[in-house]
Amino acid sequence: MTVNAIISSLSSWLQFLKKSRKATKTVALIVAHPDDETLWAGGTILNHPSWKWFVVCLCRGSDEERAPRFQNALKILKSEGLMGDLNDGPEQKPLDENEIERVILGLLPPWHFDLLITHSPIGEYTRHIRHEETGRAVIRLWHSAKLSASELWTFAYEDGNKEYYPRSIENAPVHEKLSKMTWLRKYRIITRTYGFEKNSFEAKTTPLSESFRQFKSSLDAYNWLTQFENLKV
Ligand SMILES: [Zn+2]
Repeated sequence: MTVNAIISSLSSWLQFLKKSRKATKTVALIVAHPDDETLWAGGTILNHPSWKWFVVCLCRGSDEERAPRFQNALKILKSEGLMGDLNDGPEQKPLDENEIERVILGLLPPWHFDLLITHSPIGEYTRHIRHEETGRAVIRLWHSAKLSASELWTFAYEDGNKEYYPRSIENAPVHEKLSKMTWLRKYRIITRTYGFEKNSFEAKTTPLSESFRQFKSSLDAYNWLTQFENLKV
């Protein structure tokens, strides 16, 4: 880690600490890519301004186009955050689990959060392996007490096995239909801040409602995760 990166992490953590004093809830949102925070949780962030959000994005830290756009999105979302630079090549080679966990622990301020939010270990659509790996790593870190939090939510979306653009799962424990205004603010981050074309996957996906699975116990989350791990060939 360079001196500049250390300074930038510390200043981001300090900013978050200052804001947290007035927060009704502190939330760590851990995503794979710049735009995932907005697509899957942007409405929830916008609808809860008294919650203080620290967003960790694991890939694209050295992407000269998307990294500054992520910073701009965070400003609109009034959130702090940091980026990692995990491999995100088109071949989607699986990453070493330990490396993902190390990057998360290095970017996230090392204290207790009221809530962790991350990807589902089965992803949001068919399929992006970095989403699935991120969700798995966060659940493992929570279960092994390397991350401290009172509860964990995972994104709850599905695409009918590519039949349609990802939709929120309506009967998930946390489900919120966004107002037109909130959805529009989120859509503008995707199209204007990130610059995705109107007919892009991202713009067409931008969900109208947001859903999350909710876990109050890390053991429950871990047991849920192992169902999928056992299915892995
Ligand atoms: Zn993504």
